[in-house]
Amino acid sequence: MSIYQKYGLKQIINASGKMTALGGSAVDTKVAQAMFEAAQDYVDIQELMLKAGRIIAEITTAEDACPTVGAAAGIAISIAALIAGKNLTLIEQLPYSEGLRNEVIIQKGHSINFGASILQMIRLGGGKVVEVGQTNYVEKNHIIDAISEKTVAIFYVKSHHAVQKGMLSLPEIIEIGEENNIPIIVDAAAEEDIQKYIQMGADLVIYSGGKAIEGPTSGFICGKKELIEACRLQYKGIGRAMKVGKEQIMGLISALEIYKNKVENIEKQLQQVQWIVNQFQNIDGITASVVQDEAGRTIYRAQLKFDEEKLNISTHEIIKQLERGEPAIFTRNHYANLGIISIDPRPLLPGQEKIIVNRIKEILRV
Ligand SMILES: *Cc1c(COP(=O)(O)O)cnc(C)c1O
Repeated sequence: MSIYQKYGLKQIINASGKMTALGGSAVDTKVAQAMFEAAQDYVDIQELMLKAGRIIAEITTAEDACPTVGAAAGIAISIAALIAGKNLTLIEQLPYSEGLRNEVIIQKGHSINFGASILQMIRLGGGKVVEVGQTNYVEKNHIIDAISEKTVAIFYVKSHHAVQKGMLSLPEIIEIGEENNIPIIVDAAAEEDIQKYIQMGADLVIYSGGKAIEGPTSGFICGKKELIEACRLQYKGIGRAMKVGKEQIMGLISALEIYKNKVENIEKQLQQVQWIVNQFQNIDGITASVVQDEAGRTIYRAQLKFDEEKLNISTHEIIKQLERGEPAIFTRNHYANLGIISIDPRPLLPGQEKIIVNRIKEILRV
């Protein structure tokens, strides 16, 4: 019985991905052990922040890094760092930033909701949002024309949530930043490559610790030395409301060290989804296939397409029954209106794929 069931909470099988609403990641035993030990002892937090920053910097190939409680906090803190810098009076004044250099340019197709509004996180750090272009179209001049003496950053979102077409690419944005001496912040919260955007020349890059990295609820900002130093200082200001604990920091570092050494376990992932797909071969009304992530990440999922008429049940009804069952099963349902659900193998605990397959067959009576 899991600790959650002991408190009367329902058991969850997560086949949907790294969903915050389901608790992010279930961490490796080594990560849990690091958190367990960290929780039972004391440490000089300032020293820990600096040391963790060094370790994260090395893994990400950045100059320095700053742990946060999540990527959303990373957004607010990095914006605050650019506006207030290292000036304590300004740090304490935020998010009120009237009269300061506070404008943050963002392409309209990047103005997303990741479970909360990205614009709100920018405002939380004192940023005044300047959206440019249209939802599906931005050109260089939209950005150039929006740049003023109050521009403090251009904010770029690398995410499957963002509009994938019609936006300026990161290299184009970085070039504009360099030409105009404006720092570029990249929100790469759920991305798997933790070096790429630093190497492309972004000034600050933000990651979530609980997504691809499979750490605890945590995150970090990595990037230019001076800016990271300013990020750390925001913990004397708005950052205090987003304090990251010693347990989270140690869990994050431990997860990053495992992540770094992980020979991409794609082969095992592929075998697992292929097994799931095989269980649905030759069943009238179900087309099962292995499908790569739509945003091009090296994630493979088992995709099931239902012929709702033949099966005499709607996809939404299937999803409802999966989620209401015992254990509750959450699949990836972005294409439910096309009769499609996907099973993400990454968050599954051993043996759970069998439970999912059996439950789906039970619901469909096949
Ligand atoms: C998940 C996500 C966030 C928030 O990350 P947390 O670690 O949950 O705070 C921010 N931006 C994007 C693009 C995300 O996908």
